[in-house]
Amino acid sequence: MLFKDVIGQDHIVGQLLQTIRENRISHAQLFFGGEGHGKLALAIAYAQFINCTDKYKFTTLDSCGVCKSCIKYNKLIHPDLHFIYPVAANKTIKEKPVSKMFIKQWREFLIGNNYYVSLSEWYEKIEIERKQAGINVHDCNEIIRTLNYTSYESEYKVMIIWMIEKLNYQAAPKLLKILEEPPDKTLFLLIAQQTDQIIPTILSRTQLVKIPKIEDKQLAEACATKLDMGNYDTQSILSLANGSFKEAVRMLQQSDQRKGQFEKFVTWMRLCWTPDIPKLMGFCDQIARESRENIKSFLLMGMSILRKCLVMNYTNDEVIVVRKEEEGFFSKFSPYIHNTNGHRFSEEFNNAIYHIERNANTGIVMLDLSLTVARLLKIKPENPAS
Ligand SMILES: [Zn+2]
Repeated sequence: MLFKDVIGQDHIVGQLLQTIRENRISHAQLFFGGEGHGKLALAIAYAQFINCTDKYKFTTLDSCGVCKSCIKYNKLIHPDLHFIYPVAANKTIKEKPVSKMFIKQWREFLIGNNYYVSLSEWYEKIEIERKQAGINVHDCNEIIRTLNYTSYESEYKVMIIWMIEKLNYQAAPKLLKILEEPPDKTLFLLIAQQTDQIIPTILSRTQLVKIPKIEDKQLAEACATKLDMGNYDTQSILSLANGSFKEAVRMLQQSDQRKGQFEKFVTWMRLCWTPDIPKLMGFCDQIARESRENIKSFLLMGMSILRKCLVMNYTNDEVIVVRKEEEGFFSKFSPYIHNTNGHRFSEEFNNAIYHIERNANTGIVMLDLSLTVARLLKIKPENPAS
């Protein structure tokens, strides 16, 4: 990972480079910030730069990418680069799971996602249940064992601990001890999303490096160069991504799916408004062929649209972010959702979801809901929004 491949964060990169230039690399640093801001990417780029043997050969301040150390860093196989991350037993590894056992998947995971990753994706990748996952005492013993060897090839041994907030309480004393008395030339880079969930004694032993949101301009550039934006409106993806590259990727993946669902919802509301009973019956029959989970998520999305309509009527428009392609629908439809009928919509939708979860006939539930929606849409507001 080179600094040039980190999205934005020029200011942080500058700060990190300065610590190296001034020879004041703190041995334990905590990079914290939101998902998709690039904490892990920065930490790896920083470690790679520190160990790059040709870093000052060029005028640009970045790792060379081709020296012996960089080549191993590029593949995450450098013998002095170590990773710890939350793990748990899965189908193949049943006892005393430690990070090392998952290293192959970890490398694939990072490289395959350009180093922008999320915890839930990791759990999915190694097929573990999130409720049991954590950084455990076996892994902390492993850290001590690993770091007690002298470094093989480079000046610095680097230990990157991803998601330190997942450190188990029983494991904390072990880690603390090594943070207090670190072996020479060892660099601990801890990564976290939120500092308030980190054990305070760990927190107090590290130097904090806050990784802010990615600026819109740089996020837009990254979206344009790294993602296939097709016909999507970059601006609306940016406003919803909120400075997170991970979120932008997610939005894009969901966009297609959502677009279809949104259009379906618009059709449904039109049929309810008319109301065109034969067509409504056809519509409900068609929906009833989908899985219960799909129908549920369709209704949940519908509820969020209705809620958005309601808020739009009563608050400043700027609070609500609406996709460009959906603006037309919202401006026409939202006046029909107001304080007099708004709560009824959510009651009825929740009720439908309740029955769908309990194996009721989905076609009947949907038709029933459609007829209720048709009725609710005709209710006039008692206190119209001014
Ligand atoms: Zn190099």
